[in-house]
Amino acid sequence: MTVLPSSQADAFGMRWRVRLNASHDEATAFATLCHELGHVLCGHVGADPKGYWPDRRRVRTEIAEMEAEAVAFLLCNRSEVITRSAEYLHSLIHRCDCSHVDFYAIHNAVQLLEGTTLDEAIRKAAQAAKKGGARVSA
Ligand SMILES: [Zn+2]
Repeated sequence: MTVLPSSQADAFGMRWRVRLNASHDEATAFATLCHELGHVLCGHVGADPKGYWPDRRRVRTEIAEMEAEAVAFLLCNRSEVITRSAEYLHSLIHRCDCSHVDFYAIHNAVQLLEGTTLDEAIRKAAQAAKKGGARVSA
């Protein structure tokens, strides 16, 4: 992934570019794209200008790798795309202090990539609970 200077942002204000290896099979290319987008949406390359994710550029490299790969693993697994993501995650577990992994960032990234933000999910759950007579707080 390449992070571009803000002067090279595209028409949508995006400042990064992901390049995929053309020799990879579709599953590997999808997993790679999910991993790189995981870095973006976990804030590893900066904050979203609209506030969808914070700036987390100071996260240690091994933690960032763990978070991005967790995003890729969840997206691939839920899409029934078979990859070697679980093996990579397993190797990362032995290299990082998982107490610093931000599960909210992983969840938020997966929700954004699947089309629903965490706030929307909470709001939908609260509305569903109200209809059912239950009370939900977040
Ligand atoms: Zn990575």
